[in-house]
Amino acid sequence: MSSPTINPEEIERRCPVCDAAGHEKCLQKGDLRLVRCAQCGMIFASPVPVAYVNGAFYEDAGRPFYLSAEKLEGDYAPVRFERELRMFRRVCARGKVLDVGCSTGAFLYQLGQRFPGGYEGFGTDVSGPALDYAESKGIKVIRKDFLAEDFPGREFDAITMWAVLEHVSEPKAFLAQAARLLKRGGVCLALVPNWKSLARRVLNERYRYILGQHLNYFSEESLRRMAEDQFEVLEANFTHFNPVVIREDLRRRGVEPSGTERARLLQRTNRLKKRRILRFAYGIVERALSIGRLADNLTLVLRKR
Ligand SMILES: [Zn+2]
Repeated sequence: MSSPTINPEEIERRCPVCDAAGHEKCLQKGDLRLVRCAQCGMIFASPVPVAYVNGAFYEDAGRPFYLSAEKLEGDYAPVRFERELRMFRRVCARGKVLDVGCSTGAFLYQLGQRFPGGYEGFGTDVSGPALDYAESKGIKVIRKDFLAEDFPGREFDAITMWAVLEHVSEPKAFLAQAARLLKRGGVCLALVPNWKSLARRVLNERYRYILGQHLNYFSEESLRRMAEDQFEVLEANFTHFNPVVIREDLRRRGVEPSGTERARLLQRTNRLKKRRILRFAYGIVERALSIGRLADNLTLVLRKR
C-alpha cells in the first residue's frame, strides 16, 4: 500500500504504533511537524522528507557528523556505552549478537574489548561510510537492508538497537524482523529517547533531540505496545541525563546546533563524566531521574516469545 503524498519529496505517515490514519498537530519546529495519533496518542513526525525515510540522509548529510573526529572520539570513549553494556550483560552472557544501526561500530567494539571471546558480533547500518569505519576497527558488518526478507545470519542470541527506532519510518517492522532473526528466548534491547523525560518536558521544542531525523517520539507505553505482540518485556530502564544539553538548549532558544557542535558537546560531556566528583553527583541525579522514569532515554529489554 502506498502512502498519499503531499509533495513528491515528502511522505505523509500513519501512526507507526497502531497504524491509524487520524492525528492532530502537536508541535511545529521549523519544517518539522509533530502529530499525535488520535487513536493511541503516539507522537510522530508527519509529513517527513523522503531522505529521512529511505536512508539517503545518512549516506550524505549525516557523514560529517557520524565520521567527525569529535563524534568518533565520543562514541569510542569507554564511558559511552557503559549503561548499555550493563543492561546487555544482565540478559546475554555470550553468543551471536547483531547491532542494528551500528554506525561506526563502537558498541560491538567495546563488547569485544571487555569480553574477549564471549561474543560473535555483527553490525548493520544504512550508512556505507560508517560501516567502512566499523570494518576498519575489526567489526564484521552486514551490508544489507535489515528489513530485506533474506537478511542473513538468522538465529541471533541478541539484537541491539541503540537509538534506532526513533529514526525509522517503520519501527514496528524493525521489531518484527528482530523477532524473526532471534533464537527462541533470544533478547532484543531497544533504546529510544524518552518523550516523557525531564529534559523534553522542560525544553519541549527547544530540545535538540526534537529534530528532523527523529521520526518517532516514544514513551514507555507506546514502545511497550509496539513490542508486546512478539516479545515479553523483561525490563524498562531509564538512563542518561545531560545537564549541559539542558543549559545549552535553553540558551540557544531553539536554534539548531550543527552536527559538529552536537559531536563536540558529547565529547565534552564524556570528559566531564571522567571526573570523579562530578561523576558521583551526576550518578545520584541520574538514579533519581531513572526511578522517576524521567531520564533522557528509555530502553526496553525484550525476550522473544
Ligand atoms: Zn496510534
